[in-house]
Amino acid sequence: MNDKLKDWNRQRSQQFREHQQMLKRLLKGQAQFCPTCRQALQVSAHQQGFQIRCAKGCTDLVLER
Ligand SMILES: [Zn+2]
Repeated sequence: MNDKLKDWNRQRSQQFREHQQMLKRLLKGQAQFCPTCRQALQVSAHQQGFQIRCAKGCTDLVLER
């Protein structure tokens, strides 16, 4: 594995953990905000798990259960 790929994987798993944290807080009813537009994020049930979106759609994530 080259270094670039390692970095990429590390970034991916860090981002994954951040998204899991975000989901956990949203499910507890704590407000979370889109890093791009600063609007409140909404969580909804999705067939694959949960979807996290902001009103503008710049954040649109699906987290698997
Ligand atoms: Zn946004």
